[in-house]
Amino acid sequence: MVLPEPRGDLGLREGYHSPQVEVEVRLNTNESPLPPPEAWIDELVAEVSAIAYHRYPDRAATELRGALAALHGVRTDQVFCANGSNEVLQCLCLAYGGAGRSALTFEPTYALHAHIAHLTGTAVAEAPRRPDFSVDPAVARDFMATVSPAICFLCSPNNPTGLAEDPAGVRQIIEAAPGVVVVDEAYGQFADWSAVGLVDDENPLVVTRTFSKTWSMAALRLGYLVGPAPVVRILERVALPYHLDVVKQAAGRLALRYVGEMEARVATIVNERRRLIAGLDSMGVVTWPSEANFVLFRPGDGRKGSEVWQGLLDRSVLVRDTSSWPGLTDCLRVTVGTARDNDRFLAALAEVLR
Ligand code: PMP
Repeated sequence: MVLPEPRGDLGLREGYHSPQVEVEVRLNTNESPLPPPEAWIDELVAEVSAIAYHRYPDRAATELRGALAALHGVRTDQVFCANGSNEVLQCLCLAYGGAGRSALTFEPTYALHAHIAHLTGTAVAEAPRRPDFSVDPAVARDFMATVSPAICFLCSPNNPTGLAEDPAGVRQIIEAAPGVVVVDEAYGQFADWSAVGLVDDENPLVVTRTFSKTWSMAALRLGYLVGPAPVVRILERVALPYHLDVVKQAAGRLALRYVGEMEARVATIVNERRRLIAGLDSMGVVTWPSEANFVLFRPGDGRKGSEVWQGLLDRSVLVRDTSSWPGLTDCLRVTVGTARDNDRFLAALAEVLR
């Protein structure tokens, strides 16, 4: 019996998978190194025990969206939530991409932008970044004029390179874009600038965010976007009915009571990021400036990135191997962890490079 072939245009690739292996120091997926505040867990447990489990959840996730709208100073109808920001991106591609349409990415960047576009039948055009990994608005304009992308993906700060986009450049790209401009701010809290302030109902701009990083909630899968109300209405029609379960809605709403704690953690991670970069610099390792909770580095001296990655793994330190990505030869990406994690990483790297 021969099983049927999947859709020919699916372009199934390896996707975006970091190995989930047991290690002592896990610095490969840019999660928060700390669990959420205990008081938040207590509040969530209390709510979970009082759920009407036999009923569907609030389909519009009104309270959660209202709390997010208050956080960002926008209206509830300008917020769309989904199961992780990846699902937000998927809904965007389903709504605005598809057969006969294309998306534009600036490489190297978050691999799922192109991957999700392919899965939804959207063609992908890849524009290059400058050598320092910033986006050149003139290059963006040329590509948009040629490709006319229905979706233009920016990533600020950019994963895996770390730089935030330049506000003036983002404004120019929005003005020139023939379709929707997505600014993926999964790491937005670690940067000095956010594109959320540019969102209004007249601009074709959406900004995506996640609870997986700063909010220490990667396990619960919750993300959202802030964008024009007409776009949010379309996305609500694209998402499956009741896609946001009641536990997730409560978890996100309750998490927003802990903004102060989360901001303090962001400040600690930003300090650790400085220390990590200083430690790498002192070893003669090439680093790139980062406004995120990770740092891209190249061991240098002709060291193979994949060998250094393995050397770290042998010492129970897991980082992201980006060494085979186009434009990132021999580069690795390390997530900023706790001070202890970072010390373990620096000590292991020093040993590997010795
Ligand atoms: N965007 C970027 C740039 C990311 O790095 C990630 C996580 N790796 C995501 C989106 C997806 O995050 P989540 O689906 O957990 O919200």
